[in-house]
Amino acid sequence: MGDEVSDGRDGSQAAGAAGVRPRSGLRALVVEDETKLAELLGSYLARDGFDVAVVHDGLEAVATARAVDPDVVVLDLGLPGLDGVEVCRQLRTFSDAYVVMLTARSEEVDTLIGLSVGADDYMTKPFSPRVLMARVQAMMRRPRQPDEADALEGARTFGALVIDPLGRDVWLDGELLSLTRTEFDLLAALAERPRMAFSRRQLIDAVWGPTWVGDEHLVDVHIGHLRRKLDDDATHARFIRTVRGVGYRMGTGQ
Ligand code: CA
Repeated sequence: MGDEVSDGRDGSQAAGAAGVRPRSGLRALVVEDETKLAELLGSYLARDGFDVAVVHDGLEAVATARAVDPDVVVLDLGLPGLDGVEVCRQLRTFSDAYVVMLTARSEEVDTLIGLSVGADDYMTKPFSPRVLMARVQAMMRRPRQPDEADALEGARTFGALVIDPLGRDVWLDGELLSLTRTEFDLLAALAERPRMAFSRRQLIDAVWGPTWVGDEHLVDVHIGHLRRKLDDDATHARFIRTVRGVGYRMGTGQ
């Protein structure tokens, strides 16, 4: 425990790594006003091959995200300038990055899920940077190794909706949709087994991983976003049905 205070690395290496060609080609943005924690998280991400940018306030966060187009954003909730909620809202207007929001208290997570700010995951301080890195890596790995099943199955069609797991593309009425990483993974999980009614926990296992702990209604928030983008309706579903008392499945109906 206590990684975040005992690591002792000088994070300036991470912040200064912009000129180094990253192995992964992936970019991360750390937004955290506690400079020691920011540098520590930056150094972990840099060690894992990310090209890292570190900023300490909300306004700078949005500008930097526009400039570097990050794949991952680690975003503190309490920030000077704009708070994390507003940063995430603005970010979502132009980015599908994987956003992990950091909160000071676990109760805040429920509120944030209720507010539907568009973060993909939440971590409550204090946390182990290793756990954060495990989650980030699990999420980044997914699109990088489409498995044989996906390759064999190819695209799936549900009426006007076409889902291509290999290219991670989704079309509705022939129009390419812009989904976040989490939204795509949720939809792909449902579409992979279209006759199965998934519980929220099963969807969390599939998208966030089996070690994820937290409020399972996070799933409902992302399903809500997906439905909006798919022009779908919970009461007369075209694509994603609510299965009462269970969770969700693909299909039309109530
Ligand atoms: Ca803070």
